Order: sequence, then structure tokens, then C-alpha cells
Amino acid sequence: LSKSPVPTAKGLERLLQALRVLPGVGPRSAQRMAFHLLQHERAGADELARALAEALASVRRCAECNNFAEDEVCALCRSPRRDRSLLCVVETPADLAVVEQTLSYSGMYFVLMGRLSPLDGVGPRDIGLERLLARATDGEVQEVILATNFTNEGEATAHYIAEMLRPRGIRVSRIARGVPLGGELEYVDAGTISQALLDRRGL
Ligand SMILES: [Zn+2]
Repeated sequence: LSKSPVPTAKGLERLLQALRVLPGVGPRSAQRMAFHLLQHERAGADELARALAEALASVRRCAECNNFAEDEVCALCRSPRRDRSLLCVVETPADLAVVEQTLSYSGMYFVLMGRLSPLDGVGPRDIGLERLLARATDGEVQEVILATNFTNEGEATAHYIAEMLRPRGIRVSRIARGVPLGGELEYVDAGTISQALLDRRGL
């Protein structure tokens, strides 16, 4: 038997290291999370471990839209009610959900699962642009709508994709930067308003 005066918990050390794979989690928050799980939330921790193992085993990428899916092709991509001539490019599954919530788009999607970010070493290959190109030139898609974020990286990504697709004769459009619905102009920043003015459409 070990007579070590300070009992070391190897399992705890391993948990602390494991938690640090999460974005924004440093040593202190890893410790806070681990103590919380072990002290107050043992049933929840067990469920977390099982859910994680199950998700790792069952979740993959849809062969068409690149979103998370359990089947080879996800339900949205299989739906006969979607307009297969439109392909909307978004950065994340959360962005796809936001566009879906508007109920104003019935086309298809391609989820980049990221954005071009040379400073972080994220290049065209890392966000599946070869697969996007194959998808956009499959003969069904008539127009690609770029709905990446209006950040520097999102704009650069949209620009890159447009340059990639235009020479192949594919119509490319960019969503307009607008004043949020229900948003009062007073509270919208000047850049958004000026862009909204530039992107104005006739009524
Ligand atoms: Zn899909």
C-alpha cells in the first residue's frame, strides 16, 4: 500500500486535462467544472460521458451539406420540398438554424464548419471548399448565396468562394447586410445603416 501523504487523484488530473479541449477553458475553469461535476452533479456527469461517447460514435458529416448528421445524407438534404437550385453557404450549423428560423429560404445549404483564417492556419482545404466546389458544380445548383458572417474573416471567405465559383459560370450572391428586423435605426451602428442604404432595393 502506498504511504504517500498527499493522495493524488489521477482520474481528476486526467479530467482536468480533458476539459481543456473546450474553447476558452483554462486551468481555473477546468477545475471549477471538474469539482462541480464530481461534487454536485455526478448523475449529470455520467449522462455527459455517455452522451459524448454516443455522439462520437453516431454523428458524422452529411455527404451533401457537410452539416452534422446521423445518416449519410441528412433529412434536410433528402427533403423533396427543398429547392435544389439554390445553395446557401453558412459558417456553422448555428447559422443554418438561424436562416431556417426565418422561414424565408427553402433551398439547400453547405456548412463550412469554419471560415478562412490565415492567421490561425485555417485555409481553403480546412473548410471543405473542394467539396463545396463539387457540390456547386453538380448541375443542379443555379445560384450560390453567400451567408458567411460580416466579420473580416467571413467577408474574406465570401470573397474567396465568389472568386472560386464565378469563373465556372455559377451565379453568386451575397446576403445584404441589413438593419435587424424590429431594430430601431437609432440603435444600429452607422456602418450597418450605410451598408443597408447601399444595398437598398426598389419597392
Ligand atoms: Zn445535409
